[in-house]
Amino acid sequence: MLHARRQPGSPRWRRVVLKISGEALASSASDETVDSSVVERMAGEIAHARSELQVELAVVIGGGNIWRGTTGAGTGMDRATSDYMGMLATVINALALQDAIERQGQPTRVLSAIEMAEVAEPYIRRRAMRHLEKGRVVIFAAGMGNPYFTTDTPAALRAAEIEADAILKGTHSGVDGVYSADPKVDATAVRFDRISFMEVVSRDLKIMDLTAVTFCKDNGLPILVFDLMSEGNIGRALGGEPIGTLIT
Ligand code: UDP
Repeated sequence: MLHARRQPGSPRWRRVVLKISGEALASSASDETVDSSVVERMAGEIAHARSELQVELAVVIGGGNIWRGTTGAGTGMDRATSDYMGMLATVINALALQDAIERQGQPTRVLSAIEMAEVAEPYIRRRAMRHLEKGRVVIFAAGMGNPYFTTDTPAALRAAEIEADAILKGTHSGVDGVYSADPKVDATAVRFDRISFMEVVSRDLKIMDLTAVTFCKDNGLPILVFDLMSEGNIGRALGGEPIGTLIT
């Protein structure tokens, strides 16, 4: 069965990595790159899930609302330089999210893969795990610190490193899980409650970077794909309500 019964208020997983795309933070109503109302809503849900479910929560934040490596590379920029700009963009988002989560009274640490001691701690695996054990929310910034990746892959890598039980991949495009085809194009597309890694790869279902999907497959890390933009969904996903698609 996909969603096992559990006591109300108990978490589905002990420790998870939540992947939030930078674009999810941008405003659809204005041209703000970081929409404070969206950040505050997400921060509230994260803080609530942390305190109500006692789940250990790490967040990997993207930077696509500010800059993507491919944006610069497409105009002739050096790809690695452009990717470093993208990684720095994730730090801006991480600080916005940290500020909003801490205003909810939930201690939060930003750990950056690119050292910048004035604004964030350096990423140290054992320190990240210690923060989680102490009930702090951990935000991983600057991806993995290496160009030629998107933040999907560091989400998978960090999840394995900190021994997380699952990755929650929040979507912001209105697609609430993994479908047999693009539901925006094909009206016959159906959503899977559960699907295997092999099927995601063989059907070429573009829900996450293939590098990340393959890494999760090789390391037995389940991915829950769910709609991040529906209010209350972070708590629902963490609490085990039947939303989205579980890839195993
Ligand atoms: N990036 C990178 N290495 C990493 C993570 C990110 O080079 O380990 C760069 C890459 O250029 C990427 C950008 O940072 O386009 C922003 O991340 P992403 O595109 O994943 O943001 P999202 O789509 O989640 O908003």
